[in-house]
Amino acid sequence: MRYFDLHCDTIGECSNNNLSLRKNALHIDLERAKALDKYTQVFAIWIPDQFRGKAAVKYFDKTADYFYKELEKNGEMISLYSSDENTPIKAILSVEGGSACCGTIEGLHHLYERGVGLITLTWNAPNEIACGAFSEGGFTKFGKEFVKEAERLGITLDVSHLNRQSFFEFAEISKKPFVASHSNADIVNNEYGRKRNLTPEQIKIIKERKGLIGLNFCREFIEDENACGVDAICRQLDYFLNSGCEDIIAFGSDFDGCTVHTDLWGIEKIPILFKKLINKGFGEAFLKKLFYENADNFFLNNKTVSLD
Ligand SMILES: [Zn+2]
Repeated sequence: MRYFDLHCDTIGECSNNNLSLRKNALHIDLERAKALDKYTQVFAIWIPDQFRGKAAVKYFDKTADYFYKELEKNGEMISLYSSDENTPIKAILSVEGGSACCGTIEGLHHLYERGVGLITLTWNAPNEIACGAFSEGGFTKFGKEFVKEAERLGITLDVSHLNRQSFFEFAEISKKPFVASHSNADIVNNEYGRKRNLTPEQIKIIKERKGLIGLNFCREFIEDENACGVDAICRQLDYFLNSGCEDIIAFGSDFDGCTVHTDLWGIEKIPILFKKLINKGFGEAFLKKLFYENADNFFLNNKTVSLD
């Protein structure tokens, strides 16, 4: 089976702890990913909110170096999504926290030159671009320039972690389709999760803009007293299907960046999840879209799609 995942924090964990991407005890390694026939993973470099300015750039560069070193070491298994190499695993490099651009357009160009294909605009705190889910405020003047230039470069922008005000301002500023790489529907009775989950209005806008929403496995964002594990995923899927989102829903597991239920623990559980969802009555054609096709279509098309 094929799987496309819009968000994981694995490469930061590997880099910080000097672990190999091929074999480790994290949620994702390349050996266990052999359970999948074809697999594309967006590897995020998460920039912690205590890093700003040059410290954020330095942290990004160190982790990006590690990412490319691991790709080189495991070249028979994994290659960049943008390359023509025929490997079973493809990788897209992303940054979680636009602070990695150091608040300058030159800094954004640096990320582009290092092969970043997707940028999550903020993490939870404010940065030079906008305000995150656990802070108040919206876009800065620089943030508006940043969006225009990133779109011109063909970098996909990601609204996961934006607070509501920043989200709606972004929807006004941006012109291209965008993603919420690891966000869920706000249907969970869990106060903490609600700040990160998407309201019906947000979901409607992402749909109108031909975007993409990656379901996050994080327990706090999907679980409550009524549903956990695979049942919590089913509840999200039912909601998105009822909202007409069949063609824009995907996965953004947040592997190695959050706590997940045992049934969803690790990349080797993905084929089992597919079978469980078949048994729950979801159609195979829809599941193929969810697990791979919607995300793959988005990334194949996004550089040429413009709403202008
Ligand atoms: Zn995140």
